[in-house]
Amino acid sequence: MTSARLQAITFDLDDTLWDNHGVMERTETGHYAWLDAALADWLERRGEAPAARFAERFPLSAYQARRLELARRYPLRRGDFSWLRERALAALLEAYGLPRSAACLWAARAMQRFMALRHEVSPHPEVEPMLEALGKRYRLASITNGNVDIRRLALHRHFPVAIAAGEMFAPKPDPRPFLAALARLDTVPSRALHVGDSWLEDALPARRLGMQVAWIAAADSGLPTGIHRLAHVRELPTLIEWLERR
Ligand SMILES: [Mg+2]
Repeated sequence: MTSARLQAITFDLDDTLWDNHGVMERTETGHYAWLDAALADWLERRGEAPAARFAERFPLSAYQARRLELARRYPLRRGDFSWLRERALAALLEAYGLPRSAACLWAARAMQRFMALRHEVSPHPEVEPMLEALGKRYRLASITNGNVDIRRLALHRHFPVAIAAGEMFAPKPDPRPFLAALARLDTVPSRALHVGDSWLEDALPARRLGMQVAWIAAADSGLPTGIHRLAHVRELPTLIEWLERR
């Protein structure tokens, strides 16, 4: 039995094309340390340096606690992590003694730093040549729930379609970001493969739509038909060859 030829491949980003754990840690500690140093410098030049530095009065744990408290107080915003961060920073900076306008300004600057660090991702070395080759035979799209803006990355050139599912207010596992990507790639689920690391947000919803799935995960435990586990994204070309030969 031969199935219809694959036309399109959609890719999750975080923890699929790169390892995201180190990135989030560096981003979290990095923007806070930047704020502490830049603020101390600014206050000293103004001759207003308080006895204790910002991060001494409010260590990273206090910032994290303030975000949790805000998420509880504003339940509709609990998934809007950038809003929670900026709001928590501004509150701590005001508590540190800054006037509200300066607190808001420094919070916004720290968030710019946060977003810059967030985009310092290193795709697995195999990804660039793999996308280059796949892009010649298939239409490619990215679908992410995260706050990476793929237009800020060099990999962007491989993806004629890039879906930011969080900004659509329909994050995966909602089927809409998948359907939007396939519509824009001018194909149907049965002729498309989705590649992602999350069982709940990638594998299940894509399979329910009738897509083939490459699930990147460490453990294998009796997968349903049409879901193919890969230990690493570098194994994708072999899977595609196998799918095309059936
Ligand atoms: Mg992922």
